[in-house]
Amino acid sequence: MAKITKINARKIIDSRGNPTVEVDIYKDNKLIGRAAAPSGASKGTFEVKDYPEGGVEIGVKNFNENVAKKLDGIEVGSQANFDSKLHEIDGTENFASIGGNITIAASLAYAKASANIEGIELYEMILKQGNVKARMPKPLGNIIGGGKHAINGTTMQEFLAVSSGRNYVSSAFANISVHKKVSELLKLKFPSMSLGLGDEKAWVAPLTDIEAIEIMSNAIKYCSEKAGVEISPAIDLAASEFFENGKYQYKNKALSVDEQVEYVANLAEKFNIKILEDPFDEEEFEGFSELTKKIGRNTLIVGDDLFVTNKARLLKGIKAKAANAILIKPNQIGTLTDMIETVTLANKNNYQTVISHRSGETEDSTISHLAVGLGIGYIKTGTIGGERTAKHNELIRIEEKINNK
Ligand code: PEP
Ligand code: MG
Repeated sequence: MAKITKINARKIIDSRGNPTVEVDIYKDNKLIGRAAAPSGASKGTFEVKDYPEGGVEIGVKNFNENVAKKLDGIEVGSQANFDSKLHEIDGTENFASIGGNITIAASLAYAKASANIEGIELYEMILKQGNVKARMPKPLGNIIGGGKHAINGTTMQEFLAVSSGRNYVSSAFANISVHKKVSELLKLKFPSMSLGLGDEKAWVAPLTDIEAIEIMSNAIKYCSEKAGVEISPAIDLAASEFFENGKYQYKNKALSVDEQVEYVANLAEKFNIKILEDPFDEEEFEGFSELTKKIGRNTLIVGDDLFVTNKARLLKGIKAKAANAILIKPNQIGTLTDMIETVTLANKNNYQTVISHRSGETEDSTISHLAVGLGIGYIKTGTIGGERTAKHNELIRIEEKINNK
């Protein structure tokens, strides 16, 4: 049996150039597990607290000086035990004292250490524990962006493509082809303007939401026909970010909840949108229920800020028939065990699952392993950009390994 002989956190840099955290776990001076936490820009109010008062530096100092010694000596291989220890040491409901970004990095580093000691990969260990057959997720890639992820972009946060190719690698390249085609279409529309990329490496341009959907749909049609791959549009509205004074505030109009239901349902129908994430504010369970009743048969209605990967909030959604899918972001809930419990609840209730990066990312690719290990349906992790392709490339390696077995 292997025991943790040292665990420590450090401040590292995320893709936005902001500080984030990484945790290392050692056995006899040998590194056996490492994981980093990402950070969101359009965070849900009900996520666990990412850092204690004072931010990353204070969190790292507190972890290394006070928390680490309580974790030293713990055996690897018992995730539930390790994660409940994190809860016990923290002592709050929302990881306010250790910081959820530090606990998730520790929890995932521990999972990797356990797999490492077993001599297998993380996805293999999770598959073995759940007695699940390996299945690759479908990539959901950000193509045009705005909201909190860009300056002067669209009101809705993300316009994405989801591809169902014959395997993961062809699906990932199908999304990339859409990203490339959109750059051509944007150059035609704005011949003398420089174009930019947002936080998740989606295109940013002075477009209305409708123009963004039209451009992306045209690119999707072209690429789908050319490659013979099914590619569909998706949108993450991140609507909590533009819900003010009881209305959804667009550039040229403000919509009530009922009007938003109509507006979004019409968009979904007109553009054949396959996945719609956070079309309402994070408190608006009723709006989610209405929309799910209306279009849920053909469209995945995903709760991100609505559920924040939290089992209790998902249960509330299940009871209200709000949404039919959940976004899974490990750092919204703070430990792998909590995250897996939420995925299990979703599976039991036929809620589709989408695992997701954050807008501020690192080269850590643990979510790729979690996607395959837990049989998660989709992975939202951008289209290009090193911190995003790190996840795609890891999935390409995993797919190759599965196929070779
Ligand atoms: C999202 O809203 O799905 C997202 C990835 O954004 P962020 O990481 O900024 O919360
Ligand atoms: Mg979202």
